Amino acid sequence: MENILEEANRCLNCKVKPCSKACPLGNDIPTFIKAVKENNLEEAFNVLTQTTVLGAICGRVCPHQKQCMGSCVRGIKSNPINIGELETYVFDNALEKDLKINKTEELKGKKVAVIGGGPSGLTCAAFLSMNGANVTIYEKQLKLGGITRYGIPDFRLPREVIDKTVEKILSLEVEAKCNQELGKDYELEDIADKYDAVYLSFGANVSSKMNIPGEDLDGVYGGNELLETGIHPDYTGKSVAVSGGGNVAMDSARTIKRMGAKNVYVIYRRAREQMPAEDYEVEEAMKEGVEFLFQNNIVKIIGNDKVEKLECIKTELVQKEGEKRLVPVNIEESNYTIDMDYVVMAVGSKANKEVVEKTGLETTEYGNIKVNEKYMTSKKGVFAGGDLIGTKATVAWAARSGRNASEAIKKYLLGEE
Ligand code: SF4
Repeated sequence: MENILEEANRCLNCKVKPCSKACPLGNDIPTFIKAVKENNLEEAFNVLTQTTVLGAICGRVCPHQKQCMGSCVRGIKSNPINIGELETYVFDNALEKDLKINKTEELKGKKVAVIGGGPSGLTCAAFLSMNGANVTIYEKQLKLGGITRYGIPDFRLPREVIDKTVEKILSLEVEAKCNQELGKDYELEDIADKYDAVYLSFGANVSSKMNIPGEDLDGVYGGNELLETGIHPDYTGKSVAVSGGGNVAMDSARTIKRMGAKNVYVIYRRAREQMPAEDYEVEEAMKEGVEFLFQNNIVKIIGNDKVEKLECIKTELVQKEGEKRLVPVNIEESNYTIDMDYVVMAVGSKANKEVVEKTGLETTEYGNIKVNEKYMTSKKGVFAGGDLIGTKATVAWAARSGRNASEAIKKYLLGEE
């Protein structure tokens, strides 16, 4: 607590709140830190639950340096306030002491189904329930948490934190029906008929492909699928290439290295500065022995039945007209081959096409579910959010989408849209 107080006391309580503006959830950071300074942790929790129910998770896994902490005034001359640590402290204390979240009765008697219990679905369910609605979450996995449980390894986010967060949300009288998969155990139509509104938030967790020769060979995996199922081949003494530069690439590479792979290479076609992954994660991966091949790209996976080698090429970064980011361009005749046993694709993810098609809802050219500015899909009363509508793939942005959708659903249910 001493350190926490010391950290809170460094906060300048800036009037213009640059930290809050840079927070995807718009958390009122100066006000909650002020409550921490006054040793009023219950008030700090009340302030934060105006905008988030996932503080114990976001406090640990958000890319704070790129968000709130990146805009902290204290960071200009010294270290920014460690906002993530303070948020974690406030939420851990609240979960430990079972502090209550305030509820109203505005939506009393209204029934809402939430399909998908990840960060977006949990947030939407919690905020609707805080407004008095009867909410039921349908989840295909055995437990709630979505990407936080089935995508982020426990060395980054302890399962206990997810369990406690979920328990707190369920204590708002949210019902959970797990092991229930859309398109298999029930159809959207069945649900839509039984509820006053439906929120779709089953995510986009199917790994994208690079569309290169050899991608169908044995030994090529999707990073999302490996992290989701936890089912891996035996990596002992093997060489593994991970293609990509985001969080899924980092989580996959670090998990695989910990599982005994001899060599793990992250192959990324841009430079380190352009990596979407957090800097500290890259550092950690390096410390753990993961090797990085920046400005390299895989052009072909070679093997008879299974992966044996990779053909790679070096790239240079070029500023092209109309492009915001530097564009990687292959350097002619820089091709080389490298022995490899497994390849993991972590170059992006998309929604499950089959499940989306079965809903019969309109989609975008990228295969996401199409929504209007009020998060409503092409079917009245059916809303969607999070990765499923193409939201930036971070926990906090998914949660923001869930909260925004809950506000839109509330208006719809009250006939105010
Ligand atoms: Fe405190 Fe930094 Fe936010 Fe200012 S910008 S209120 S110092 S956390």
